[in-house]
Amino acid sequence: MAGKSEGSAIGIDLGTTYSCVAVWQRDRVQVIQNDQGNRITPSYVAFNETERLLGDSAKNVVSMNPTNTVFDAKRMIGRRFSDPLVQEDVLLWPFKVICGENDKPMIVVTHKGEEKRFAAEEISSMVLTKMKEIAEVFLGSTVKNAVITVPAYFNDSQRRATRDAGIISGLNVLRILVEPTAAAIAYGLDKMYSSSGEKNVLIFDLGGGTFDVSILTMVKSTFKVKSTAGNTHLGGEDFDNRMLKYFSQEFKRKHKGDMSNNARALRKLKTACERAKKNLSSMVHTAISIDCLYDGIDFNSPITRAKFEELNMELFEECIVHVEKCLKDAEMDKESIDEVVLVGGSTRIPKVKQLLQDFFNGKKLCESIHPDEAVAYGAAIQAAILSGQSTDEIRDLVLCDVTPLSLGVELDSGEMSVVVPRNTTVPTRKEKGFSTVNDNQTSVTFPVYEGERPRGSDNILLGEFVLSGISPAPRGVPKLKVFFDMDVNGILTVTAKDEATGNANGITISNVKGLLSQNEILKMLEEAKKLKLEDEEHKNRFQAKNSLEDYVYNAGAATRKFSSKLGIADAKKIESEIKSAMAWLDDHKNAERDVIENKRKELEGIWEPFLKKLLL
Ligand code: ADP
Ligand code: MG
Repeated sequence: MAGKSEGSAIGIDLGTTYSCVAVWQRDRVQVIQNDQGNRITPSYVAFNETERLLGDSAKNVVSMNPTNTVFDAKRMIGRRFSDPLVQEDVLLWPFKVICGENDKPMIVVTHKGEEKRFAAEEISSMVLTKMKEIAEVFLGSTVKNAVITVPAYFNDSQRRATRDAGIISGLNVLRILVEPTAAAIAYGLDKMYSSSGEKNVLIFDLGGGTFDVSILTMVKSTFKVKSTAGNTHLGGEDFDNRMLKYFSQEFKRKHKGDMSNNARALRKLKTACERAKKNLSSMVHTAISIDCLYDGIDFNSPITRAKFEELNMELFEECIVHVEKCLKDAEMDKESIDEVVLVGGSTRIPKVKQLLQDFFNGKKLCESIHPDEAVAYGAAIQAAILSGQSTDEIRDLVLCDVTPLSLGVELDSGEMSVVVPRNTTVPTRKEKGFSTVNDNQTSVTFPVYEGERPRGSDNILLGEFVLSGISPAPRGVPKLKVFFDMDVNGILTVTAKDEATGNANGITISNVKGLLSQNEILKMLEEAKKLKLEDEEHKNRFQAKNSLEDYVYNAGAATRKFSSKLGIADAKKIESEIKSAMAWLDDHKNAERDVIENKRKELEGIWEPFLKKLLL
C-alpha cells in the first residue's frame, strides 16, 4: 500500500496563525507546498465584494480589508463568548464577534455586500478546506481522510468543535491528535532503531499565538503525555506587537505622526515587523522600510537583534517559567529529560533557543525537523498508520494522549469531586462511588465538570444528567457508581449506575452548550459547499473576464500594428469598437460569467472579419 496516493490520508496541523499539511508518501513524510510555494499557510479567511480568499491571498490583503479578514478562529473554537479569554481577544480583533445563541461567539463579516455570520468551526473548516485542496493538487486525487491536531490543553469541547470543523470541510476525521504527541511521533520515527529503554521528552512549542510545553515519556515506540503547561496568549504575534509598539513610537518621535488610530497603517507596520523579526533570526540587524506608511510619510528604521531581544526578554523568560511548571507537574527534574524538541515557528528565534538550552545546562536541542512542520509531519505519520498505508515499522506505534484538565462531578456541597485526574492517559475508564444526601431520595443529579478549581461552579460545566428510580433508603445507603469513559479522541461518556437496581443513566458530552448539533453541522456543510461553488464560479467568471480582456487588448494591438491593411473607414470603425469594448469592460467589472461570454460572442461576430484581414 505504501506510496499509493489514491485515498491518501493527510495530517493537518491546524494552527492559530499558520497551518501545515503533510502526507505519507513513498515511505516518507512529504510536507506539501501551497500554490504560493509556501510550506505553511496562514490560517486566514477574507471576504470581500466578489469572493472569499483563503490562506496567503487572505493574509496578503489584510491591510486593505481588516474588518472582513478573519484569523485566530482557533482562539474561539469550542469556547463561549463570555469566556474571559474570548472577551479579551474581541477587543483586539479588527473583525466583529458577537454573542450568538447558547453564548456561542459568532463572527460577523460582509460578504458580497451581505452581512454573514460564521461560527469559529466554519472559519476553521474553511482553513481546513484550503489545506485539503493543497494536498489534493499535490496528490492529484481527492482526499477524504485526515488526522487533525489540537493543542494539548484543548478541553473536550474544543476538541469536538475542531472535529466538527473537519466534518464541515468535508473531511473524515480519523483522529484528533494532540500537537506534542504529533511532534514526538515525527522525531520517534527518526529514532526508532536507536531508541532503547525509557526516554523523557520535553516538547517546547512556541508558535504564532500560543505557547505550549509538554512532557512525554517514550518507552520504545510508545508515547505518553506526562504533563502540559503553557500560555494561550504567548507567541510570535506578541513579539510582533512589541516591535509594532516600538516602531510606532519611533515613527512618532521622528515624524511627529500618530498612527495609533489608523488600522491600515498599523497593519502595514505589523506585517513589516513580522518580516523583520524573521530576518533577525538569521541576521544581527535589519531595517523596516515602508513607503507612504502614514500621512504620506515613508518610514525607514533599523533594528538590531539585541534590541528585538530586549523588547521581548520578559516574554522569552516567561517561557522558561512554564517549562519549570511542566517539570514540576510531571514530578521530574530537568536532568531526567532526555530530549528537548523544538516546535513552532517562533523557536527559530536564537534567544529562545539559547535560554532553553541554558536552562537545560547546555543540552543539544532537537531541531532536525523544521519546527513549524514537525506537528503536521507527525500527524501525517499517524494518518498513514490509521488508514493502513504506512509500512510495518511505524504501524507498531501506540499512541497515548492525556486529559488536559481534571474531570468530575459536583457534589451537593458545591465541591468538585474529581473522578479522572488531570493528565490521565486516554483512553481511560475510571469509576467512583457516590450516594444520596437525603433520606428516601429517589433521584440524584450529576453535574459533570472539567477544571482544576475545588468548587464545581468555578470550573466548566460540560453537562448534567439525572439518575432516578433509586429505592427509598436512608441517606448514604444507596450505592451509586459513576463511570467516566474517555475515548482516544478525548470524547467523554459519563454513566451512573444504581448498584441495587442496576438502573443506569448517563450522557455523552455532545450537547455541551455552544457546540454544534448534528443539524447545524449539516447546515454548515451545505453552506460550505455553496461557498466552494461560489468560489469556483468566481474563478470561472474571472477566467472568462480575463480571456475577454485579452481578446480586446490583442485586437487593439493588432489594429494599431496593422491598421494600414484596413481602409480608413474600417480602421476608424474598429478603433471605436475597441474603445467602446474597453468602456464596457470598465462598466462590467462584476458581470456574471454568461454576460461576459455573450459579450465575447457578440464581439467575435463583429470583429472576426476585420481581424482576419488584419492578420492576413
Ligand atoms: P501556530 O502557532 O499557528 O502553530 P507556527 O508554529 O507556524 O504557528 O508559528 C508561527 C509563528 O512563527 C509566527 O508568529 C511567525 O512570525 C513565526 N516565525 C516563523 N519563522 C520565524 C523565524 N524565522 N524567526 C522568528 N519567528 C518566526
Ligand atoms: Mg502550532
